[in-house]
Amino acid sequence: MQHIFNSEGWELEVIMEDNKSQLNLAGWSCPIPLINYPTIVLGHGSGGKMMADLIQHLFAPVFNSQLLNQLNDSTVLDLKEILNSYPSKRLAFTTDSFVINPIFFPGGNIGDLSIYGTVNDLAMSGAKPLFLSAGFILEEGLPMNSLGIIVSSMASACKTANVCIAAGDTKVVNKGHGDGIYINTTGIGIIPEGINISISNAAPGDVILINGSVGDHGMAIMSVRSGLEFETTIQSDTAPLNGLVDELIDATHEIHCMRDATRGGLAAVLNEMAVSSNVGVEFIETAVPIKPEVNAACEMLGLDPFYIANEGKMVVVVPENQADKVLMAMRKHSLGKDAAEIGRVVENHRGLVTAHTRIGGNRIVDLPAGELLPRIC
Ligand code: MG
Repeated sequence: MQHIFNSEGWELEVIMEDNKSQLNLAGWSCPIPLINYPTIVLGHGSGGKMMADLIQHLFAPVFNSQLLNQLNDSTVLDLKEILNSYPSKRLAFTTDSFVINPIFFPGGNIGDLSIYGTVNDLAMSGAKPLFLSAGFILEEGLPMNSLGIIVSSMASACKTANVCIAAGDTKVVNKGHGDGIYINTTGIGIIPEGINISISNAAPGDVILINGSVGDHGMAIMSVRSGLEFETTIQSDTAPLNGLVDELIDATHEIHCMRDATRGGLAAVLNEMAVSSNVGVEFIETAVPIKPEVNAACEMLGLDPFYIANEGKMVVVVPENQADKVLMAMRKHSLGKDAAEIGRVVENHRGLVTAHTRIGGNRIVDLPAGELLPRIC
């Protein structure tokens, strides 16, 4: 990252490493001395000239979306072309708010997280994500450079996930009344014909798969917060899963459940499935991939990796005769190369999850009791 300063030493411009995104504060019509104080002030949420400046100089060039350029009270979406490519009568619709602390962490920041989180929730219904909205609540004093980096990350995340921001909003709250930045994203996707994926569809005999190692995101955040240092920095796994889901749907339409293992981790997803589908769930602890550094961090902090949040991991439940095909399709994709079969859906102990432990016993794996790691996404 390269920083450009003015003659008085205030930072005017930041050039990202990939050289794709630039934040140029020169030429803003903000009243002096604002240009010399490149932080968010209440005026940036006022609906007046300063907000227009923020939109024109920061959001619009980065997002570069024709839909946003409509500049109407609501964006008009033309579905004709979409329905030509994906004939369908069903949409998926979801919303999520991101309040993560810290806003920059190893492997990502609140910006790309807010895009991938909503893209993944759409993808878990088998939907192709199409449009997102982004609502920003900014705290007075947030450095403009931080906002620039976050917004640039959102734009490149949209490109990676092949979605478009179609609506947006910005509000500013007084210093001390926020935590730098909160982002809400809402998403719409289209569900292809013949797909019926739901957390209540698991059936006894089904095989449970996961696309890779668990606990990376939560432990990346925890190690920053607790100042833990390991030989290898733990990186968040934040990533868009819609490309991988496309591959799985190409391999088979017989997917019963998919859920991304975010807050509450793997344990929460398996419990939600056991209750919603009224089935028993069994998994083998040693079959679940966990990175050594994540395991070490969990041991040090006394945490169970099966309860730790992920931002690029999903549980996929398929009939036994589809499992090999789906596992192979997963492993072919970069976000599924460490995919593994971790357990089975069973007839008995309906509503409960049990784990076959590494020392050879069995234990009940309950829903997490409360918020294990607050402000994780
Ligand atoms: Mg989810």
